[in-house]
Amino acid sequence: MAVDATQPYDDQNVFAKILRGEIPCRKVYEDEWSLAFHDINPQSPTHILVIPKGAYVSWDDFSAKASDGEITGFVRAVGFVAREAGLVAPGYRLLANTGTNSHQEVPHLHVHVFAGRQLGPLLARVD
Ligand code: AMP
Repeated sequence: MAVDATQPYDDQNVFAKILRGEIPCRKVYEDEWSLAFHDINPQSPTHILVIPKGAYVSWDDFSAKASDGEITGFVRAVGFVAREAGLVAPGYRLLANTGTNSHQEVPHLHVHVFAGRQLGPLLARVD
């Protein structure tokens, strides 16, 4: 079910459990601010999720409440992960779903990094 991004943070969400080490992930990168891991249901040959370590529901929550250090660290981590994976020359797409219309499923901010094939039009049509 899609997340209502106006709701408070739920520390039982799956990414909170990954951050606490309660469930495993296929880790790509970790630093003080961020964790990156492979998506469990990849939509492209490379599909990595980058999440901040802080408890933020969505891009909205993060951009409003995170410290400058958290924001800088997270944005740099997303870029670093893509660069280290060799995605800059072939190209990649970032996506951060926020709330109901976006079909956000996990209520902890995550940026999808898609790459490894032609990614097609910006948005799928659903009508
Ligand atoms: P979104 O719809 O933007 O909230 O995307 C949530 C993403 O999390 C989906 O692409 C899922 O495949 C992915 N996901 C859910 N559970 C896990 C997990 N345990 N490990 C890795 N990725 C997951």
